[in-house]
Amino acid sequence: MLYVVHYAEIGLKGRNRPRFEGGLRANLERQLAPLGEVEARRLWGRLLVELPDGAAREQVRSRLAQVFGVAYFSEASVCEPELAAIQKMVDEFIAGRSFASFGIRARRSEKSHPFTSNQLAVSLGAHVAQQSGARVDLQKPDLWIEIHVLAERAILLHERHKGPGGLPVGSAGRAMCLISGGIDSPVAAYEMLKRGLSLRYVHFHSSPFTSAASQDKVRDLVAQLAVHQGPVTLYLVPFGDIQQRLVREAPADPRIVLYRRLMIRIAQALAAREKALALVSGESLGQVSSQTLGNLDTINRAATLPVLRPLIGMDKAEIVERARAIGTFEVSIEPDEDCCSYLMPRRPATWTRPEPIEAIERGLAIEQMIEQALARTERERIEPTT
Ligand code: ATP
Ligand code: MG
Repeated sequence: MLYVVHYAEIGLKGRNRPRFEGGLRANLERQLAPLGEVEARRLWGRLLVELPDGAAREQVRSRLAQVFGVAYFSEASVCEPELAAIQKMVDEFIAGRSFASFGIRARRSEKSHPFTSNQLAVSLGAHVAQQSGARVDLQKPDLWIEIHVLAERAILLHERHKGPGGLPVGSAGRAMCLISGGIDSPVAAYEMLKRGLSLRYVHFHSSPFTSAASQDKVRDLVAQLAVHQGPVTLYLVPFGDIQQRLVREAPADPRIVLYRRLMIRIAQALAAREKALALVSGESLGQVSSQTLGNLDTINRAATLPVLRPLIGMDKAEIVERARAIGTFEVSIEPDEDCCSYLMPRRPATWTRPEPIEAIERGLAIEQMIEQALARTERERIEPTT
């Protein structure tokens, strides 16, 4: 069984190209591996993906639709690279299809065949016109008949199915995603995976002071996101002790911003271990009090790595819609006890400035808090949902 996978080539120049194609090949092979032995090869800026003949079409389609970088894909018929065999393959393809116009696209990889691609197209065109009564239209036909003649076989591409687009996971580098178990951060992760980042995840929890529900939710969410990436690392950071210390030692109002700045620093330390070059978070401008520009600025200054916020310009309804579409919504809305609602101040500061916050932090044993949290951090490997 053969599939042809098309990817958008726009922006794929020079040295980006092998990275992109190599990543896409590896991701396709991994995604399709449960269906049997798979091999992906390059052909004219596309990939030919060979699968076992018994593979279920539904399975192949749903798996291909999860690989970022795939613009669209088609199943392909295969025959001997000879005119009579190709004609027969075309007959089988058009049987049962109704069309008033058609176009032939023919290409060959070997100059050794006794016909040029143009001769092939003309001869097949005459044949199909005679068989079907349809007319040739090379602008916008009802049916495209696309033939590739390779060294040892000829193939015919069937209808196109849409892929998810984007860039192959891993082709854009690596980042550490702060994932909460809420609605937003899984969507943020999805958006960045789609732009080609390979992610590692970090979750802060207040267990044993709160239930461990948020950790199970995050494991579920990461497993779902890992469908696009493969088995992935999740760090679980105990944050309750830090929160209790801040409650004792720091003023209440800016507490959320202090939490966030600590999360950022700890996430950065973990990013360094993973050689990740950015953080990813699910903030959206103005959505809640910690996400005003004033607070975002104060939070950001704890970071030296860039913090990628793909949802920054989206409103909640759009994010929810996206969460439903990618299938994370149902898990995200399960009840949990998020560490941020634990020890929440009564009047959270909605607009902080970095200088006063830095002054507060100078009075706290920040480095020690970070070291202690890191020492007790657990690292898990999460397998993709099957
Ligand atoms: P989400 O829906 O992702 O929980 P939110 O709307 O609740 O986001 P905030 O509480 O301000 O917004 O959190 C902003 C971002 O900070 C989250 O999207 C996430 O990236 C990160 N974050 C918040 N809490 C945690 C946590 N417990 N562990 C890891 N990251 C977190
Ligand atoms: Mg949240």
